[in-house]
Amino acid sequence: MTCVRSLPFAIGWWRGGTSVAVLLPKRIARIGGEQRSCWEPAVAAGQTAGAASQHSPTETGGLAPPVFAQVWALAEHSMSRIVFLGTGGARILVFKQLLASGGMWMELGDARFHIDPGPGALVQATKRKLDPTKLDAIILSHRHLDHANDINAMMEAMSQGGTRPRGKVFVPSDALEGDPVVLRYVRGYVKEIVTLQPGGTYEAGGITFRCPLRLRHGVEAYGFIFDAPEGAVGYISDTDYFPELADAFRVDHLIINVLRTEPTAPLQHMSVPQAQELIAAIKPKVAILTHFGMTVWRAKPWEIAERMSQQTGVRVIAARDGMRYELEEGQGVSDRHIRPPAAPSD
Ligand SMILES: [Zn+2]
Repeated sequence: MTCVRSLPFAIGWWRGGTSVAVLLPKRIARIGGEQRSCWEPAVAAGQTAGAASQHSPTETGGLAPPVFAQVWALAEHSMSRIVFLGTGGARILVFKQLLASGGMWMELGDARFHIDPGPGALVQATKRKLDPTKLDAIILSHRHLDHANDINAMMEAMSQGGTRPRGKVFVPSDALEGDPVVLRYVRGYVKEIVTLQPGGTYEAGGITFRCPLRLRHGVEAYGFIFDAPEGAVGYISDTDYFPELADAFRVDHLIINVLRTEPTAPLQHMSVPQAQELIAAIKPKVAILTHFGMTVWRAKPWEIAERMSQQTGVRVIAARDGMRYELEEGQGVSDRHIRPPAAPSD
């Protein structure tokens, strides 16, 4: 119920049959505008005494009914967001930690997912006060170390060291076989381990997601489409470009891993021109670039995103370490506590 964080900004009172809600200007604007999803049953002002008197304040815990209804409406709906716990991809950039590599923390509706917990995921999550014991699922796109290194730490954290088995873990089959990245001893700490399949549909925390197809990345790799209340969220993880991606990922919010500035065979990674082609074909409401390699980082991802926006007509954002992306707003908010690192000049 992340929308509860709005409660400090809403003050309501009841006097003589009139209810009034006092809100921050941003919230008032939203009530007056198109985006009402969080406030559909809300009463902004002017509730009559007759309507209000249908309920006793004691029935609602001492709060006047319209105010109670409004507070309840706030609490009942959740606002979805994605926190980028790292925007670094590829070896050198990750191992030097020029950018963090903790993957993504998603709060979609009431569900909490950690996607691709790479090196430092647990540190990146906890220093932003994101509580791993509240996770509903950990989801792995593929077994490469920059995506999977902290999966065992996160499984232990989610289950409090196995003392409270909970949560689901979704992984490609090769994360469990041979030289497994999910250690055997920790598998019993979670409620369920699910093997991903191309075309599969899954559920955790009341949110469904699917893997439309297998990506082209050497090891078994998948992208995901999450059915968030604010629209479909697509994540295209590490992959070579192929035209079927556009039809498979018709989403509202599109996250793409972009490692290279130019296509570089035989490396199976998306390049900037390929990502732009994909964004132009999909036309999401917002596209977010992340998982940068060194060439992209040196070219300043935010300038790449700006050029892509101009050329595609789609709003393209370059993710930052710690950035919170609010789905309803379609905006990324930088983490004020963490200075974004300067792009290297050499
Ligand atoms: Zn990879």
